Amino acid sequence: MSVYESIKQQLKAKPKVWLVTGVAGFIGSNLLETLLKLDQRVVGLDNFSTGHQRNLDEVKALVSESQWAGFHFINGDIRDANVCCQACKGVDYVLHQAALGSVPRSIENPIATNQSNIDGFLNMLVAARDAEVTQFVYAASSSTYGDHPDLPKVEDKIGKPLSPYAVTKLVNELYAEVFARVYGFKSIGLRYFNIFGRRQDPEGAYAAVIPKWISAMINNEPVCINGDGETSRDFCYVENAIQANLLAATATAEKSTNKIYNIAVGDRTSLNDLYSYLRNNLSVRFPHLKEAHPLYRDFRSGDVRHSLADISRAETLLGYKPIYKVFDGLVEAMEWYIEHQK
Ligand code: NAD
Repeated sequence: MSVYESIKQQLKAKPKVWLVTGVAGFIGSNLLETLLKLDQRVVGLDNFSTGHQRNLDEVKALVSESQWAGFHFINGDIRDANVCCQACKGVDYVLHQAALGSVPRSIENPIATNQSNIDGFLNMLVAARDAEVTQFVYAASSSTYGDHPDLPKVEDKIGKPLSPYAVTKLVNELYAEVFARVYGFKSIGLRYFNIFGRRQDPEGAYAAVIPKWISAMINNEPVCINGDGETSRDFCYVENAIQANLLAATATAEKSTNKIYNIAVGDRTSLNDLYSYLRNNLSVRFPHLKEAHPLYRDFRSGDVRHSLADISRAETLLGYKPIYKVFDGLVEAMEWYIEHQK
């Protein structure tokens, strides 16, 4: 049995109390769904700045009534220290996802990004420390690698940040490290690499590439590629990220905690290949795509050219094993967007 399967069995046998911040968002609502299906008690915190009530409604429809009764939602803001203290009371594990994502959003409005991602993060750290939670797992980001040229990316070799968003995610890691040193506080940072899957928002100026393209293709709208299309990413299906969160929260070995982990698949896909794969698969159901072509435009500032993770640390120290390869995840994601199209 895999480490993940055995952790799930242990949790089912002995439920815990979890706090998921950013619970109405993409990754947060997926964590909520998995935890409730494992009969856990979950406190969720969100201010709906980029999350949606519809994500919570969808989870409600996917779990039993008694599982849903194990969920307590706080409509609140991590920029408010009192809200964070209230949310952390009686909690075993924190999965801190709340933040303003997106590199371009941070370039447009660095102050807003800083407030949620640094002030809010610090509020959560202090609240979790005071509530003496067992483990604090937080969403870090591959953007922290910045201008470091090495591929694949190894956790200890980072470059200079390329955007305000990347600065905030680096500061999160620095704070977590200092909290370990100064207060003996336990945390784990998961450096996500382009997570995708059901409930990721396809709308708005800051939408991520996979939901945006699938939605545009289904609706016969133009698809734009920033740059020449040879930019590449280590796209990672959300189920793998959920696995990483549960493994990190329950990790007890001294050598596993107070560390940063790359969370990805360890495989690189170019935007041109991603476009072809999506178009070819969707064109079976949507024949208008048979003749479709992307529109190429300028490279986007703040973007890194290539991204590929070395995931051996997470494999060795957490027992992480990404079950979904990129194209397995894309198949499930396409199905979800087709079912939920406008
Ligand atoms: P998302 O925007 O869908 O979810 C973020 C959630 O946080 C939203 O529901 C939003 O309303 C909430 N939120 C934002 N600011 C808040 C505040 N001040 N108070 C309370 N709630 C607040 O984004 P996501 O893709 O689910 O990202 C989750 C986390 O993972 C974020 O920290 C993001 O930076 C990080 N991350 C995501 C990816 C990815 O590929 N999706 C990659 C790297 C890192």
